[in-house]
Amino acid sequence: MKEIIYLDNNASTKIKEHVWEEMLPYLKDNYANASSLYHRMGREANAAIETSRKQLASALNCQPKEIFFNSGATEAINTVLTGIFKNYQNKGKHIISVKTEHKAVLETLKQLEYAGAEVSYLDVDAQGAINLEALEKSIRADTILLCVMAANNETGMIHPLKEISQICQNKALLFFCDATQYIGKNKLDLADIPIDMVCLSAHKFHGPKGIGALFIRRKSKPIQVTPLIIGGGQEHGFRAGTYPVANIVGLAAAISSFSFEEQEKVRYLRGLLEKSLLQLDAVYIHAHQSNRLSNTSAICFRHILASEIMSNCPTLALSSGSACVSGMRDPSHVLLAMGVSEADAKSTIRFSLSSFSTEKEIQLAVSMITKVVQKLRDQSPIWQLFQAGLIT
Ligand code: PLP
Repeated sequence: MKEIIYLDNNASTKIKEHVWEEMLPYLKDNYANASSLYHRMGREANAAIETSRKQLASALNCQPKEIFFNSGATEAINTVLTGIFKNYQNKGKHIISVKTEHKAVLETLKQLEYAGAEVSYLDVDAQGAINLEALEKSIRADTILLCVMAANNETGMIHPLKEISQICQNKALLFFCDATQYIGKNKLDLADIPIDMVCLSAHKFHGPKGIGALFIRRKSKPIQVTPLIIGGGQEHGFRAGTYPVANIVGLAAAISSFSFEEQEKVRYLRGLLEKSLLQLDAVYIHAHQSNRLSNTSAICFRHILASEIMSNCPTLALSSGSACVSGMRDPSHVLLAMGVSEADAKSTIRFSLSSFSTEKEIQLAVSMITKVVQKLRDQSPIWQLFQAGLIT
């Protein structure tokens, strides 16, 4: 079988070798329950968790007691949104979010709307950016939470977190940030940027799947989030369930290995990819003018279906960035919110690189995509019409 060129790293990433090595002892040798403090194995497992918590806190420049381990971003999002709504309803039922958030946020907010929440979904411009004045204007006396992601999973567009958190501070509004795609590709300094709650998932930055963390800032007036999962009292009663020690150790190892040099290499490779693919006719990059993640490029190949390109490139692991519901490909809600036409949204492929990507792989991917795009367009009556100037 031909080797796959993996360019779907915003979906999930390969575990780094040193991360495996640090996890292995807690899968093979020390399999104790980290809450069994009566014996040495349990105490050692527990110590590994607390060391991991300190490592993660140091990476985020926050306090270890502000970190709660869980199964990943989806759980954190559900916990925060439902927990805040439950506890702050007496103040108000209004939540502000953005049309381009991940489905984990949008679907949870939809459930809250059924339960009586009033949600304002901010518009974005053609680059995927929100208007900060519009954000400020949308804050009301009964607004209890702002939920804005750090970086978009489809386009890589990065929101101005410092400015947004400043607005929230001025208005004494809680700010929850889904930083699932941002953390691991950028440093997030929580001492510098006063976000109240942040979530992350280890599998997005070369750690294992099924493990993540939620940061909740310690404030003089504590933030009230009700636990979603209760039981054995782990995480000080905030998140019950036997600790997946190896996964927690893996998360900490993965985040600690963040390097600016790696990200610069990824940015360079993405530049090569974009420069080469932009040579093709009627190709453009979404959110091209915005501050973007170093690894992400959502490229529209006009007048061909992304699904057709991908099925003609079986050795490339790519993504259309759109949800696949019961076999139907919906156009991406993110691109539609940016004003992209349905046809262009369906012609868009997301390339997401990682530090494992190589120049050779990028060259091969470009050459495959170029050939397939040319072949499909040669066969396409719509392309002929476009070339003849009969459609735009
Ligand atoms: N938020 C964003 C921006 C994501 O990209 C993802 C995963 O794709 C999630 C949340 C959900 O993460 P997980 O599936 O790890 O819970």
